[in-house]
Amino acid sequence: MKQESIAPIENHRRREKGVLVYPVYSRRSGGLSVGINLFPGKKTCSFDCPYCEVFPFSTNAGFSLEQMEEDLRAVIADAVERNIPVKDICFSGNGEPSLSPDFPAAMKLAGRIRDELVPSAKLVLITNGAGLLQPGLFSLLADAAAPSEEGTNSLALDIWLKLDAGTPGWYQLINRAEVPHDKLVAKIKEFAAFAPFTIQTMLCSVDGKAPPPDEAQAWEKLTVELAAIATGKIRKVQIYGKARPSPEDPKAQALPVAYLEERAAAIRQALAASDISTEIFVPSVEVYP
Ligand code: SF4
Repeated sequence: MKQESIAPIENHRRREKGVLVYPVYSRRSGGLSVGINLFPGKKTCSFDCPYCEVFPFSTNAGFSLEQMEEDLRAVIADAVERNIPVKDICFSGNGEPSLSPDFPAAMKLAGRIRDELVPSAKLVLITNGAGLLQPGLFSLLADAAAPSEEGTNSLALDIWLKLDAGTPGWYQLINRAEVPHDKLVAKIKEFAAFAPFTIQTMLCSVDGKAPPPDEAQAWEKLTVELAAIATGKIRKVQIYGKARPSPEDPKAQALPVAYLEERAAAIRQALAASDISTEIFVPSVEVYP
């Protein structure tokens, strides 16, 4: 499949046409992000979020490392030729990247291409975290995310980890995942002791209801707890709103920007008031309505 040229538009929809590599202008990356899609044939995910942007599709396209390499090199060469800085190479695509058996090799290959062609670009994994329950993936991600030090071959993988819910009740509404909430949270806490990551939280309403107050409090407590376990390791907290259409619209709906800002202010305050505020690093909190 021929790679897509860079267009000054949000072009996530191209993922559903079987492409393996798709350049997008990303709000959260702050510029050009080169997406890698490990599931060109159909959506593959262990969560079933009602706000998910992947529309039902199926293609005959398959994934291969050779095609990924060819397309990734071509997209990066195009950007470099046009003096467009590549902010990151990002595994997201049509589902949960860590579910693909090709993910470990694809991640290493993308890291090598990044080092060769655009060494200042980040290598990003957007994940729902369920893969951490598998010991092999847990170690793979912990090693890949370890900060790069002179003389090491770390990929310096930048993990953006989904944490949409502090309570099992809201988790069942917002993520509809089979992995029990307590198991997932326990594993994320364990991971936080080993590797840096960014927390990503979607705030939207489900069936017309915003997260209830006890959910907001539980999420805040959990976020502070994670930051305390991993002082210096939680890089950022990204709160984002529903900005794009989903196949289940209007089940999940955008909440007012003021609500997102209120929740951001509350977590900033909670982090500043916590024990970690006396340590060297408190994660920044960003809002993407
Ligand atoms: S985890 Fe991501 S890909 Fe999976 S259902 Fe949720 S939003 Fe969609």
